[in-house]
Amino acid sequence: PQYIANPERYQNMSYPRCGNSGLRLPSLSLGLWQNFGAVDSLSNAQAMLHRAFDLGINHFDLANNYGPPFGSAESTFGQIMAKSLKPYRDELLISSKAGYDMWAGPYGIGGSRKYLVSSCDQSLKRTGLDYFDVFYSHCYDPETPIEETMQALDYIVRSGRALYVGISNYSPIHTKQAIRILKELGTPLLIHQNRYSMFEREMEQGLTDVFKDEGLGSIVFSPLAQGFLTNKYLKGIPEGSRASRSEQIYLNADQISKDKIAKVVKLNKLAEQRGQTLAQMAVAWVLNNEAVTSAIIGASKVSQIEDCVAALNCADFTEQELHSIDTILEG
Ligand code: NDP
Repeated sequence: PQYIANPERYQNMSYPRCGNSGLRLPSLSLGLWQNFGAVDSLSNAQAMLHRAFDLGINHFDLANNYGPPFGSAESTFGQIMAKSLKPYRDELLISSKAGYDMWAGPYGIGGSRKYLVSSCDQSLKRTGLDYFDVFYSHCYDPETPIEETMQALDYIVRSGRALYVGISNYSPIHTKQAIRILKELGTPLLIHQNRYSMFEREMEQGLTDVFKDEGLGSIVFSPLAQGFLTNKYLKGIPEGSRASRSEQIYLNADQISKDKIAKVVKLNKLAEQRGQTLAQMAVAWVLNNEAVTSAIIGASKVSQIEDCVAALNCADFTEQELHSIDTILEG
């Protein structure tokens, strides 16, 4: 049957403004880094995208090398777009990136104009899109002048390949430089994408101040610490979870340490007292940082997306709860 989006999709999601820009983002976005590759189920991928959109998640985050193999998450997204989401293109915010390893040789990695522009073209082809809403420099490249990388982003917008530009994993100093250069070029920086969760708070050391001072939007990834900040690993590593997958190098059994599990158990208890799941509390916690515009979750099942969206029903924290969380994390 043909997909028809839920007519009430905008009722329960919030859409905060992205920094000082004219663009609003959903509080929750969905990332296709994992579980949308050629190795994964296409029907599950489709079900997750449809359910997300039906729940008001209208921002999907991609990168050239999401898969596996590289490029295949964009191809999966392109297939689903062509089949069912195309009528909704103007309601969707779709991002992609280039910066990390993508293809062999010197032009398949880094921050050169050569790599960014050709990779953006490849990403457009794979997704079948005419343009990206946001195109990112995925990481700072110390070997390329930052002016060149920013000029490439400016060109990507001026040539119609993207509407806005972002940077990801840039330090506070490089972020300030990027803001200044892009302002001069006339293509203001829309957004910064960084890792942030109860377990990974480095962003609070300098970056959040830059976001606030400069009126820059902030979208944070891995708010659930890749699934660790849920009730899933309380009793070991369950079959099918991210940490159990053999091809997985970013979350492996070694990182699921006893010390961290002890913290997760305490956080889980606190979440229960708040009447929510730990995944919901983890999402609510990153959104509670006033510098954060949106949190990008990942998912392997439709039910996880539903669970995370329900975090918005209980998103406020008392001072006492925030203090308890800090104590658990420091302990
Ligand atoms: P999360 O921290 O949200 O982890 C997602 C994983 O958590 C899921 O795959 C699932 O794991 C588990 N999960 C999700 N919801 C629930 C739930 N309700 N209950 C129990 N478990 C749950 O984010 P990701 O690490 O996946 O990153 C999200 C996105 O951020 C990426 O897709 C990408 O778009 C972006 N990103 C950007 C980076 C960058 O450098 N710019 C780097 C990394 C990510 P399981 O598979 O075990 O079921």
